[in-house]
Amino acid sequence: MDNVLSISEETMQRRKVVSDFMVEHIYPNERLFEHGGPEAEDLMKSLKKKTKAMGYWAPHLPEEAGGMGIGFLPYAYLNEIIGRSAYAPSVFGSQAPDSGNAEILHQYGTPEQKEKYLKPLVDGDIRSCFSMTEPAVSGADPTGLQMRATREGDEFVIQGRKWFSSGAIGAKFAIAMCVTDPEAPPHSRMSQIIVPTDTPGFKIERRVEVWGERESNHPQIHYDNVRVPVTNLLGPQGAGFKLSQKRLGPGRIHHCMRALGQAQRAFDLMCQRSLNREAFGSLLADKGIIQTWIADALVNIQAARLLTMQAALKIDSGDEARVEVSMIKFFVVNVTCDVIDKAIQVHGAMGVTSDVPLQAMYKNARTLRIADGPDEVHRMVVARRALRTYRQGGTWDFATF
Ligand SMILES: Cc1cc2nc3c(=O)[nH]c(=O)nc-3n(C[C@H](O)[C@H](O)[C@H](O)COP(=O)(O)OP(=O)(O)OC[C@H]3O[C@@H](n4cnc5c(N)ncnc54)[C@H](O)[C@@H]3O)c2cc1C
Repeated sequence: MDNVLSISEETMQRRKVVSDFMVEHIYPNERLFEHGGPEAEDLMKSLKKKTKAMGYWAPHLPEEAGGMGIGFLPYAYLNEIIGRSAYAPSVFGSQAPDSGNAEILHQYGTPEQKEKYLKPLVDGDIRSCFSMTEPAVSGADPTGLQMRATREGDEFVIQGRKWFSSGAIGAKFAIAMCVTDPEAPPHSRMSQIIVPTDTPGFKIERRVEVWGERESNHPQIHYDNVRVPVTNLLGPQGAGFKLSQKRLGPGRIHHCMRALGQAQRAFDLMCQRSLNREAFGSLLADKGIIQTWIADALVNIQAARLLTMQAALKIDSGDEARVEVSMIKFFVVNVTCDVIDKAIQVHGAMGVTSDVPLQAMYKNARTLRIADGPDEVHRMVVARRALRTYRQGGTWDFATF
């Protein structure tokens, strides 16, 4: 059995299989995937076939939902390796936002919804998006979201705007957060509704370029009187927040595990470069300042890993682990940003070129300080939880909280 401090033989073996696969099929093809086109698409398809044949498809899902069925912590240990390349999660069928959408459909979908949306999603035949953040109001405080879904007979009529619905271009359906019960208490106002993207009124208004990338897929969407049957409601009406908490908790751990993979890869590159580059009569590896960066990076990555594994273990035991998830969401991502930043510095000018993957890795890690809840909000969650204990006359015991 895996635990926070040790990895089982079985998981070690799986990690080796994935590592070997990354070396053989992923790293050498990253530039091809980055540039896209028919050759990249064909390769992606054939690699997906390979991971399915190997029995490594959808490692985040239980077997009955078409996944590997290994549990959350063993997946965490595997996802560290998969996360080392931004292209690998697609190859293993565990890319966001499809992974989180599949988990929520598996838990809350009706048999018809599972057949129509979950099955082809898990099989990798279609893609999806999660449509929550809106341009006009704060995404960090989703109680203020405005997009309305009004019931008319057997239909919901949806009216409003969303943006940063990642992957929406080319997606078959969106899971949209809509206000269905405006008079209810703030956390019971919203519902999640499945919206097929070919429904009349579902309009991609603009792409929204992220980091100057023209091909970004985080568009702004106008839901312009979109009509869907009431049977497209996902989970109970008014339970949108509850469901998104269920979705975002594990989803944030998925992000952190991938971020750890990125930190580890940056660390490898930093050490290798410092052993190969000389300046002022000695290797970079011999300079005190570089050794400080390497030592700090190593300690921080390991601290981040242990915190992440502890959160994954708690989720595996059925707990929502909200404080732990918030702790790792800001800590791990900041560690990752810092390690990649130092790795770029050690590479000098090469660090900001496409000769090494560091610049793309940095952009992703920096983005994660905002996406899925900004650092400040996760710090607020952790601090509020601690202060509540003190307000009630207690103290914070790190051994048992
Ligand atoms: C690349 C990318 C992909 C994304 N993908 C998706 C997606 O697929 N689906 C989706 O629905 N959303 C997605 N998002 C949106 C993301 O979740 C939101 O950007 C995030 O929740 C913040 O909301 P906001 O942008 O409206 O910022 P705001 O809510 O306006 O916050 C702005 C800033 O205010 C500060 N702030 C906010 N609250 C506090 C506080 N309590 N204390 C102190 N400071 C605070 C923070 O510094 C924060 O960064 C994505 C974002 C990015 C960048």
